[in-house]
Amino acid sequence: MTTQQRPFLTGSCCPSLGDSHKQSGEQSARRRFLGRAAAGLAATTLPVWVRAKEGAHGTDALLLSCMDYRLVDETERYMSGRGLRNRYDHVVLAGASLGAITSKFPSWGQTFWDHLGVAIDLHHIRKVMVLDHRDCGAYKVILGPAHLASATSEREAHAKALNDLRTQILSRHPKLEVELLLMALDGSVESI
Ligand SMILES: [Zn+2]
Repeated sequence: MTTQQRPFLTGSCCPSLGDSHKQSGEQSARRRFLGRAAAGLAATTLPVWVRAKEGAHGTDALLLSCMDYRLVDETERYMSGRGLRNRYDHVVLAGASLGAITSKFPSWGQTFWDHLGVAIDLHHIRKVMVLDHRDCGAYKVILGPAHLASATSEREAHAKALNDLRTQILSRHPKLEVELLLMALDGSVESI
């Protein structure tokens, strides 16, 4: 089967990647297939390596974060600190919460909803983590600089967008848990 012929949602989430990525994609698809198979069987009937690979480490969270290059490592460190290393789906939009709800770039929001739907269908996620960050360039582009008048007004601007997105997520997917977070440039994170 060629890469183009491979049907979507068979386990691999990268159906259009080239041959150099094909083998690892197929290995990944096999692992996910085994993971789903494992879910339908009593754990004690599974080979040890299957239980070790899939039994204890499903993906149940989707992270939405900004694209800012300054915080890539900090974001991974934060997720690892939460015990989620290699255990979350990740959608990146400039502005994170604001990027998902702004009318200035409506295709970004559609992208978020489409990916959230795939994460629910494919990985049965139960939680969405939305990680905004301070000094966000996308917030300046979309809102202008006024919200940066003080640390408090900046936090309020993020809290509004984060809560608006949570309301929209819960309206579409009431069973999901939604966690709202704001990262400072030093990598520290506060809950909103
Ligand atoms: Zn940003």
